[in-house]
Amino acid sequence: MPACAVAAATVLTAPAPAHAFTGGHHETITRSALPWEPRTLTEMADARRGAVNANDHGDYFRLGILHCDNADYLTPRHAAGYPRTRDEATTELLACIRSSVTRFRAAVRASDGLVDAEGRVSARDTDLGTPCPWNERPGRAKCHVLEQLGRGWHQIQDFYSHSNWSDRTTGTLGVTNPPGLARTSIAPFLAVGRYSTMADADWTKEAAALVPEDLSTGCYPDFDSTGVRPVGCDGRVRHNGTLAKDTPAARRSGNGNFHRATGLAAQDTARQWEDFQAALRAAYPGRRGEQMICALVHDRPAAVCP
Ligand SMILES: [Zn+2]
Repeated sequence: MPACAVAAATVLTAPAPAHAFTGGHHETITRSALPWEPRTLTEMADARRGAVNANDHGDYFRLGILHCDNADYLTPRHAAGYPRTRDEATTELLACIRSSVTRFRAAVRASDGLVDAEGRVSARDTDLGTPCPWNERPGRAKCHVLEQLGRGWHQIQDFYSHSNWSDRTTGTLGVTNPPGLARTSIAPFLAVGRYSTMADADWTKEAAALVPEDLSTGCYPDFDSTGVRPVGCDGRVRHNGTLAKDTPAARRSGNGNFHRATGLAAQDTARQWEDFQAALRAAYPGRRGEQMICALVHDRPAAVCP
């Protein structure tokens, strides 16, 4: 990860700025998680132009909630008078989760266009003969669904790179070496599919109660959920050089931390896809839901889905 000024220059000059797992790592994670046919999988996963990397481009790159940034916090045991409260950190984390919940719901709605009233796959809406544009506009239904899913999964993957969830730490703990939580399974508060069926007030309460007291992500000079862009991250747990495990070479990636973060990001992506299929079956019972799933995983579904 480059420093902030370098990252800003990178946005202007290079197609794939590194903010989070770099595009290649998002691609590896995504490919390992999804049993999809090649062309469809490339649309989702590609390091430069896949849907799962779309949040690292353009203005999306500047919105911290799309990368689970700025949910930084240390308990008094590890830092006296930490400049942010647990509540502020949890608010940022919930905003990150909410961005995924919103995308998940939109993907369920957009799936309606994949098949007709009888469940026949729409050839026009599932054609991937030209690349999907990821421009937030409803065009081909399959592109629309993939965009919503990819833009919702990016931050789920980022969470594992940007937080101390699965880190193991040694040495003196503090702002430059936050405690690792050493978790070995995916985060229960990223149950996006479950939350998508609940009232926002209910799932945010449930999720907040599952957040460990000493969970932290990193401060990054992008906009947080309240519209504030920190000029610097003095006195706070930083993304750059402290918590980020975006590449194997990052300082925090030692101790097996990079390996565990990518592994859990892949596991969670698989969970998200399972939960999305369950949501389609619930929202569109019977043949239509099954045909939607068939249309999403196959490259030429109009020819192969019954
Ligand atoms: Zn990101």
